[in-house]
Amino acid sequence: PRVIVGMGTCGIAAGAKKVWEAISQEIRRQNLDVEVRQTGCLGMCHREVLVEVRIPGQPKVIYGNISPESVKRIVQEHLVEGRIVKDLVVGMEAEKGTLLEGMPLLEENPFWSKQLRLVTRNCGIIDPDSIDDYLKAGGYQSLRRVLAEYTPEEVIAEVKNSGLRGRGGGGFPTGIKWESTRNAVGDRKYVICNADEGDPGAFMDRSILEGDPHAVIEGMIIAAYAVGARDGYIYIRAEYPLAVHRLMRAIDQARERNFLGDNILGSGFNFHLYIKQGAGAFVCGEETALIASIEGNRGMPRPRPPFPATKGLWDRPTNINNVETYANIPVIFRIGASEFASIGTEQSKGTKVFAVTGKVKKTGLVEVPMGITLREIIFDICGGIKDDKKFKAVQIGGPSGGCLPEQHLDLPVDYDSLISAGAMMGSGGLVVLDENTCMVELARYFLQFTRNESCGKCTPCREGLKRLLEILNRIVNGKGEKGDLDRLITLGSVIINTSLCGLGQSAPNPVLSTIRYFRSEYEMHIEKKF
Ligand code: SF4
Repeated sequence: PRVIVGMGTCGIAAGAKKVWEAISQEIRRQNLDVEVRQTGCLGMCHREVLVEVRIPGQPKVIYGNISPESVKRIVQEHLVEGRIVKDLVVGMEAEKGTLLEGMPLLEENPFWSKQLRLVTRNCGIIDPDSIDDYLKAGGYQSLRRVLAEYTPEEVIAEVKNSGLRGRGGGGFPTGIKWESTRNAVGDRKYVICNADEGDPGAFMDRSILEGDPHAVIEGMIIAAYAVGARDGYIYIRAEYPLAVHRLMRAIDQARERNFLGDNILGSGFNFHLYIKQGAGAFVCGEETALIASIEGNRGMPRPRPPFPATKGLWDRPTNINNVETYANIPVIFRIGASEFASIGTEQSKGTKVFAVTGKVKKTGLVEVPMGITLREIIFDICGGIKDDKKFKAVQIGGPSGGCLPEQHLDLPVDYDSLISAGAMMGSGGLVVLDENTCMVELARYFLQFTRNESCGKCTPCREGLKRLLEILNRIVNGKGEKGDLDRLITLGSVIINTSLCGLGQSAPNPVLSTIRYFRSEYEMHIEKKF
């Protein structure tokens, strides 16, 4: 028998370490032959601490909201007496009919049934510190197949056929990006993983790295083989210590098993992978600033072109993708490009991982097929609005994204639909807002964030965001003037059109989208009716 404790950052924040100690102690005290293991985030952050009990031949049972005090009941009633602790059960995985009456089945729980877990398939299931767990789950099979059966050009063709687009926000076709780096002239080439996730409310990449680090490493090795790179870097913020720790261990293990290093699996292909920890500047998520930071320079963007594919790290051709994009690669080579391309919509293939936070009943990490509606994510999967208040809007795409009101709840979630509605996919943060949220204050919050994070290199962003914030501050403080809304719109458009990098080019989006959909709230502030 096994007891598995959810030890992602979310679980640990909810007290998983104490639960782990209490379980280990109780098992020792009772002298039981039970293994205690850890896993990453299962996605149900709202039910942490999660504990799973697996007894051979019996249904897998997941318990939620576990405290050190409730541990004794699980050990005594479930492990010793063989009775499921009904009032603590989140769900069970079993055939219908084999369960006690009234027990919730995992597959019938809408939190699970509407998800399609491809990228996060191992998160919350395997021990992320164990390469053997990853191998047992089919890990590194895609790499083996690629090295044995594919030329680099065939790898790129397969990724192109899959329709995979970058999951970091831009949505650029991954295969075309790889092809540009492959075709670029250079004596050395690099691959970089952008793990500098910094949007408020976003934790998709952290959860993937904490729950299944080998999947990202495997994706990077395949990318390196395709583009012809010998070295790779994972650029990760130092505020993610658990993810850094698990990545370091995973890289060591992969090296020991010859998935990294020289002559990988006897193929003649060499690839070395390093971690570079960033200091947490939001702008370092922009690829040219990220490259500058790895080079030891101040993390500031530079104009593009030249693009990193031709002139990147140390002026060499460089392929940059984010964590989730790389984690999709082993999936593509396991299920095949055509099956992957059959998931999602015409222009947006596969799945997307979202971090759902805010005024929603079930916060957490969800992975859904592209094309699902916002309503399905917020109401079916995440249970609707907390305390049964009214839905007001959803902020999608982080500080670069926009706020969508109720009339867009049935919008399919794909790159192009979101842009046409004035928002963007971004990296996958979804902040749900209820009727009590002041949209002007919300816009101000995001603008404060981008103003603080502006690197100051170009005038429209450095000065323009300050002026935008001044106007918003006076509106919020009841000192708004006639004409302020027009000033916000004009200045916001100038900043978007003239800033150097994506930070400035998208920072006014929360302001402009809230004016577009909640103009009356601004007007009421200005007319001092609030
Ligand atoms: Fe720096 Fe902002 Fe200009 Fe980007 S847009 S280079 S963050 S000042």
